[in-house]
Amino acid sequence: MHKTVLVLPGDGIGPEVTTEAIKVIQWFNEKSTHSFDLINGLIGGAAIDHSGSPLSSETITIAKEVDSILLGAVGGPKWDYIENQHKPEKGLLKIRKDLSLFANLRPVTLFRSLSEASPLKSECIVGMDLMIVRELTGDVYFGEPRGITHENSEEFAFNTMRYSVSEIERIAKIAFDIAKQRKSKVCSVDKANVLETSMLWRKTVQSIGDKYYPDVCLSHMYVDNAAMQLIRNPVQFDVLLTSNLFGDILSDEASMLTGSLGMLPSASFGSRHSLYEPIHGSAPDIAGLNIANPLAAILSVAMMFQYSFKLDIEAQMIQMAVSNVLDKGFRTKDIMSSSSTLLATTQMGDMIIQELNQIANRGI
Ligand code: NAD
Repeated sequence: MHKTVLVLPGDGIGPEVTTEAIKVIQWFNEKSTHSFDLINGLIGGAAIDHSGSPLSSETITIAKEVDSILLGAVGGPKWDYIENQHKPEKGLLKIRKDLSLFANLRPVTLFRSLSEASPLKSECIVGMDLMIVRELTGDVYFGEPRGITHENSEEFAFNTMRYSVSEIERIAKIAFDIAKQRKSKVCSVDKANVLETSMLWRKTVQSIGDKYYPDVCLSHMYVDNAAMQLIRNPVQFDVLLTSNLFGDILSDEASMLTGSLGMLPSASFGSRHSLYEPIHGSAPDIAGLNIANPLAAILSVAMMFQYSFKLDIEAQMIQMAVSNVLDKGFRTKDIMSSSSTLLATTQMGDMIIQELNQIANRGI
């Protein structure tokens, strides 16, 4: 198999964790019959510094031509002074919108040896395996009108929360299809007691469930309750279906159940394109220190292999390498415990490569 991947490291720890993820892709270039051409591109603050725009039209053109995209993270205080519509984060929103990446999958999986890194007691998280399906191209992030203005000499700001039936239907179908390959349970999250967008969301999800997925158990939950239930009893969830804003917040919360934001990968799809990225941001507080956890970025490569390239064995090898390295007690700072061995970002990447060599030698 031959594939082309656009690599957009971005800002802050983005380039650090992406470098480690690339080591894994290069390992498969050397040791397998598959080959992956990596094309480097700029997004976010790095792109602003280079050309004044957080995502150039040339990069978008390449993004539409490649087989998949690996992204690091964007943003940082260096670009805080820039007007909102030109900020690094706009590059990320633009690539999602231009490529119609409307479905974002965020698997929240607990690696067995990380149960002590979770802030919850281990009996609350044993068996936790949930998939957050987040709508990614609608909601307040994209809704118009939006802006900051003045009225009666006071400044005020507004955004528009907006969803159409077709936008809700297509993300609901993704969630139901994924649930069918899992435990056949979908919990749809909304705020239908207050918001009209949520009322439409609930009605539409229910009708898709009734019409096409009668065998999938569908429940609805208000987002405030969902935030609480994720802490109280996360094991109850199989697939959590959310809108863009609620999914953004809930998935950061859920990531901590696994020990760290640095553990959660993600996949974003449209009908033609796909993009993979860790769910965390550019973490300016630790950027440049070689202490960031690269495992979310590395696990994003596993998702790319599984979902975009149908390389299931290779994806399993990466997941197994991560699991084994953690079982052997190796940790980055964010998931460190007293009996573990502390590794820098680069050392963690090298350790995953060592583990891949061992897995390849003995077979999985
Ligand atoms: P963040 O995710 O960057 O960091 C939150 C906290 O988690 C920080 O303490 C950070 O050190 C820690 N953290 C994050 N990733 C880690 C990793 N891999 N290893 C160890 N620790 C890790 O969120 P933030 O601080 O709210 O935002 C910082 C910048 O990132 C902002 O400019 C924001 O807009 C941007 N951001 C970008 C994305 C993205 O590119 N997808 C997502 C969220 C935030």
